[in-house]
Amino acid sequence: MDFSSKLLENAVNEVSRLPGIGKRTALRLVLHLLKQPVEHTKYLSEALLHLRNDVKTCEKCHNISDTVLCDICQNPRRNPALVCVVEDIRDVMAIESTSQFKGLYHVLGGKISPIEGIGPQNLKIDSLVHKIGEGEIKELIFALSSTMEGDTTNFYIFKQIEKFNIITSTIARGISVGDELEYADEVTLGRSIVNRIPFEQSIRS
Ligand SMILES: [Zn+2]
Repeated sequence: MDFSSKLLENAVNEVSRLPGIGKRTALRLVLHLLKQPVEHTKYLSEALLHLRNDVKTCEKCHNISDTVLCDICQNPRRNPALVCVVEDIRDVMAIESTSQFKGLYHVLGGKISPIEGIGPQNLKIDSLVHKIGEGEIKELIFALSSTMEGDTTNFYIFKQIEKFNIITSTIARGISVGDELEYADEVTLGRSIVNRIPFEQSIRS
């Protein structure tokens, strides 16, 4: 792309570093901003900077939060004995939108993936094992996507916590293997949490 302006080129280059945004899309977005009042660009940059500087990770569940403990962990009406293990905040948002789950979450921050160089030590697994060791958690629900990485991660965690003798279950999937949790519709996802199955049964089938 030949740019008549270095300023334009820099802005396009920065925007195109975002996932799924090619140079052409970046140019369209930047030109759109140029046509809008300058405040729009100001609010956008300020919101992003604020997010980057001030966002926290909940100390208990590792979900993205504005406070040291997130709203879900702070809510006295949630059941701390029931914990749902998910990959990231998108899964928390998907499950919350079903209104079928009243427990707490544990956000791993990813899945075990040797190809991408992600091992158990890169995920929030130790803190989960530690939390279970403290005795408050009675049931753990695995809600990772049913991909090979998801299954590997579930099994790894299961092996780590077997000794604690808590109930482990996995969400019943009405959706085909490989579908990401985030894309499941609310009704299907809600039902799959209510109809969860014992984890050991899921690895035998
Ligand atoms: Zn939390």
